[in-house]
Amino acid sequence: MKDFEVRHVRNKGFAVYNGSTNERESGFYSGRPLAESYCDTLNRQKKKRDAMSKRKCMCCGRVFLSEGIHNRLCRNCGGSGLGKEMIEPCTLQL
Ligand SMILES: [Zn+2]
Repeated sequence: MKDFEVRHVRNKGFAVYNGSTNERESGFYSGRPLAESYCDTLNRQKKKRDAMSKRKCMCCGRVFLSEGIHNRLCRNCGGSGLGKEMIEPCTLQL
């Protein structure tokens, strides 16, 4: 997979293109810096997505999309912000 890149189109301006599909991902900008800042944003998002990998949840054993090495619990078990107690409320044992 290639990254996004800024290309200049004659008589139109600068736009961000997907290096893999050659599809235009933005409108045309009159200045290169504007297009480049949008391009950076897309590449950052892509990097984050690429860094995600499938991992087995340490809690329930289900395979889930992990955000990185620190992320070992699936969404249901509290890996991404939501605590388990939000989904399965603790019940008081009397
Ligand atoms: Zn889990």
